[in-house]
Amino acid sequence: MNKTNLITKMMTILLIAGFGLSSCDETEDILASSEYVSIISVGDEGETNVDIDELKSVTGLGDGELTDEQAEWLKFMREEEKLAGDVYRTLYGLYKIPIFNNISKAEDNHTAVVLAYLNAWEIDDPLIDEIGVFSNEDLQKLYNELIEAGNADLNEALKVGALIEEVDIADLVELNELDPGEDLILLSEALQLGSRNHLRAFTRILSLRDIEYEPAVLSIEDYEAIVSSPWERGTGLCRLIDTE
Ligand code: MN
Ligand code: MN
Repeated sequence: MNKTNLITKMMTILLIAGFGLSSCDETEDILASSEYVSIISVGDEGETNVDIDELKSVTGLGDGELTDEQAEWLKFMREEEKLAGDVYRTLYGLYKIPIFNNISKAEDNHTAVVLAYLNAWEIDDPLIDEIGVFSNEDLQKLYNELIEAGNADLNEALKVGALIEEVDIADLVELNELDPGEDLILLSEALQLGSRNHLRAFTRILSLRDIEYEPAVLSIEDYEAIVSSPWERGTGLCRLIDTE
């Protein structure tokens, strides 16, 4: 599968996801519809949150069966979002710059969004409620490496931030290999949008400090497409009609 095409497509796909699920897609003016909801909010540092209650109003969480692979993907993303939050919180403790504080809170929100999905399908939650401790061994190893790298100095810490967001995008895109339904796609799209904003946020501060970040996971084309474009706020979705 061609990841360049996939990631570029992701940048418009929230709109498409909305049409698939919507109650207001037949309204001429979607923005004027009372059924229109926005699930994304973007703060001053680019920190991007997902409104869990509104998300629930536009998706049928828990409907249908998930495959084992899809359930495993959700469990992995639950801990990967926690990893981002734990790293940023730790780096905030070292460097005290607001970006780490604000984005760590957004990652807590993403971690909670994935939990809503786990709960909806009654999947066991792998999360260990202790900073820097993970069930998944790969994530434990990654956390240890990232903290060691971020300890060097603030520039390295900001690069750790950009790297986490790259890894996050790549792992979220992996869902596409698992024949996901609309609800999982929506989760992946929303978290990818957040990660693109966070990648913009970290690289923006790096460039203000005259540091050029070189992508380690994304292709140079995907990376440039993201960092050269403005904050994304999502396109909004339409509330589900209760057909019961
Ligand atoms: Mn995240
Ligand atoms: Mn992030």
